[in-house]
Amino acid sequence: MRFAVGNSILELLPGNIVLQDVDAIVNAANETLAPGGGVSGAIHRAAGPQLAEECARIGHCPTGEARMTAGYRLKARHVIHAVGPRYGAHPRDAELLASAYRHALQLAEQHGLRSIAFPSISTGIYGYPLDLAAPIALATCRDFLHSHPAVALVRFVLFDEETRLAYEHAARTIGLAPEPE
Ligand code: ADP
Repeated sequence: MRFAVGNSILELLPGNIVLQDVDAIVNAANETLAPGGGVSGAIHRAAGPQLAEECARIGHCPTGEARMTAGYRLKARHVIHAVGPRYGAHPRDAELLASAYRHALQLAEQHGLRSIAFPSISTGIYGYPLDLAAPIALATCRDFLHSHPAVALVRFVLFDEETRLAYEHAARTIGLAPEPE
């Protein structure tokens, strides 16, 4: 599914983020930036050990922020490590989740990148309910693209059926209009 946002595209695709041929893929990282399970484990395995070495040199990233590294063996030239919140039904969770997406997008723009692929941050091991996280993720990216047209493509790479359906539903509820095929 694709949506036009100004002159940019917001896209929902099923698949595996490590295979994406975009300027940067986003890792759903933790504050230590150490390789974990889930999408982080998959990205580190595909990128090779140099990715963990660069992450260790950076050392830390607060929740709601992001840090950029090289992509090493990945097709993507960069990895942006964004740290979403561990869900705690806390009022601040939504702001921290939106902030993780915004920081990642800001880093991409500051480095002149035009295409970026996200996984569904925080909805795996970090337990953020999909029906709450998906509209926050999509609305944050839509709002960013409206005000930062230099980023041409934001792609969500959705690993499982439940996640894909939740994002498609959220796209409708926030009023994104699909492009004709
Ligand atoms: P978090 O700790 O932020 O919750 P997870 O990695 O546990 O991060 O999960 C985030 C999302 O990434 C989940 O929807 C999970 O299914 C998905 N995921 C896992 N592996 C991949 C992959 N290779 N590509 C894209 N998404 C993935």
